[in-house]
Amino acid sequence: MRLTKHRKQLLDLFKQDRENLYNAEMLYEKLDGQMNLATIYRALDLFQKEGVIAKSIIEGSAYYYYMENMHYHYMICLNCHTKIKIDCLVHHAIDTIASKNDFQVQQHDLTVYGYCKDCKL
Ligand SMILES: [Zn+2]
Ligand SMILES: [Zn+2]
Repeated sequence: MRLTKHRKQLLDLFKQDRENLYNAEMLYEKLDGQMNLATIYRALDLFQKEGVIAKSIIEGSAYYYYMENMHYHYMICLNCHTKIKIDCLVHHAIDTIASKNDFQVQQHDLTVYGYCKDCKL
């Protein structure tokens, strides 16, 4: 992957905080507007294709996180919007279903919504 100065800066943001999730607007702000949103989206697409970052759709928006070699899912609190990272527990189930349907899986996305320990009744 060709890494321009700006792409490297963007990737460094993900590496600095591997626990965090970012959407494009947050990255735009962190880079002080040095990259415009269209360029950020293109870079995010590229990083995803390379398997460096992964995308999760959370409350209708795309968020990205640093992947290394594992992808994760998130549990989202509907009240305080806390995001709790969880390991993928569905790979095996998806493989089974996919092979039954002769389907070649490229990716999957799963987000769990509910209430965290501080917000649940
Ligand atoms: Zn909560
Ligand atoms: Zn998964």
